[in-house]
Amino acid sequence: MSDFVLIKIHESDNVAIILNQGGAPAGAELPGGIELLEAVPQGHKVSLTDIPKGGEVRRYNEVVGYAKHDIKQGSWVSEAVVDMPTPPKLADLPLATREKPVLEPLEGYTFDGYRNADGSVGTKNLLGISTSVQCVAGITDYVVKLIKQTLLPKYPNVDGVVALNHTYGCGVAITAPAAIVPIRTLQNIAKNPNFGGEIMVIGLGCEKLSPSRLLEIDETQAVNILPNSEAAKKLDDHVVSLQDENHHGFQDMVDHIMEMAEAHLARLNQRRREPCPVSELVVGMQCGGSDAFSGVTANPAVGYASDLIVRAGGSVMFSEVSEVRDAIHLLTPRAETVEVGQALLREMQWFDDYLSQGQADRSANTTPGNKKGGLNNIVEKSLGSITKSGNSPIVDVLSPGERIRKRGLNFAATPASDFICGTLQFASGMNIQVFTTGRGTPYGLEVAPVIKVSTNSTLGRRWHDLIDMDAGRIASKEITLEEAGWELFHLILDVASGRKQVAADRLGLHNDLVLFNPAPVT
Ligand code: CA
Repeated sequence: MSDFVLIKIHESDNVAIILNQGGAPAGAELPGGIELLEAVPQGHKVSLTDIPKGGEVRRYNEVVGYAKHDIKQGSWVSEAVVDMPTPPKLADLPLATREKPVLEPLEGYTFDGYRNADGSVGTKNLLGISTSVQCVAGITDYVVKLIKQTLLPKYPNVDGVVALNHTYGCGVAITAPAAIVPIRTLQNIAKNPNFGGEIMVIGLGCEKLSPSRLLEIDETQAVNILPNSEAAKKLDDHVVSLQDENHHGFQDMVDHIMEMAEAHLARLNQRRREPCPVSELVVGMQCGGSDAFSGVTANPAVGYASDLIVRAGGSVMFSEVSEVRDAIHLLTPRAETVEVGQALLREMQWFDDYLSQGQADRSANTTPGNKKGGLNNIVEKSLGSITKSGNSPIVDVLSPGERIRKRGLNFAATPASDFICGTLQFASGMNIQVFTTGRGTPYGLEVAPVIKVSTNSTLGRRWHDLIDMDAGRIASKEITLEEAGWELFHLILDVASGRKQVAADRLGLHNDLVLFNPAPVT
């Protein structure tokens, strides 16, 4: 019997990856009597048959590349010997053609969350302090530190206070069509259920992104806001402008902000967790630092959990346009309606154009780490990435930063950049995120819990205190895919309820929110 284990995903695949830690040496005898012609690292592909020059390299029952030259059985199918296929054309893709899968409703599951006046539910109880421009970042950080020291101890039901700093607000072409992306992202971040509807803004006073625009007060009205009007009251209660003429120096500004923060904290402190149906969960799915195991272990387990959330009435977002682009032909049939399918194509086209303006294409996505982890190219990465979406129909497509409208599986269009995707999903209403990683990242968000799932047990063991769940156990057959999916489902409910803390929160490791600004800067 061979000491080596190969993972082949589909019967008709002609490559398989090596499971063993440390890979396999030249001359190793592999299952099926294949002799390895050269050393192959863990997670990398071995040819199971001879593949002629120009022949298809198949994984996931899809073409992940074409042989650059004859590849003998038992060879290492590395990036160097494979040409990347072109992406599927967006015209003539089948839309909403798949027969709807039977997904039995899943009843009786709840989580303990903070219910808001608008019906949404938070998984954390945070004071988020929005900012309308980067100019105020220093003072916002100063005040947040002070609030943590002096005010938070008085309001023990509030989990924390977060400065929502960003690089936008001034020096930007605010009327450019694409400026809608950063603007609505900032508007919608403030409305995330984890902030309990307590919007508070620190502005400067002369910036392009006025606090009234951030609060979505009609701009025509904002130019001439009448004293004692509703808009004037809203601004008074929620906005501190540093250039306010009543501020004589720094301390006045600090006092003003502290006073407003305390009023918000007092209201947030009234909130208590209560049992809420899973239908109020909005789970963001993301991956980062992927490897060849991502599409075998963690991402399919995430997909299984995703279907459970959807069956329980909840919402799931999957994202990362450049990682679905090459697998779009597998997603458009899953659109619930033709319109949803068209919306998927619209987002793909928008991103194709965005990349081509920068003289790049989706191949710019794959990182050196991905390749070291066995992923030859973006096609192979995408096929693994989309398994996060499970099997549910896609009910809606959100443009970057748009708020979620429908329960069920949503495609939220975002770049694949971990921090930008996290920020945009949060703006769309995500209240908990699941993040899979093969290479490892300490990624976390202060504004929503992030459950990190390792794709391989080598990482899971090495990063034992940074990873929340090891899906590598699927490859070593310690648990089945279904068991991993259920384990993750229960972990999501426990973390959303505050019963379990994720590693990033326990260690205080939090990334910045990072805006996506496809519009010009002036
Ligand atoms: Ca990512």
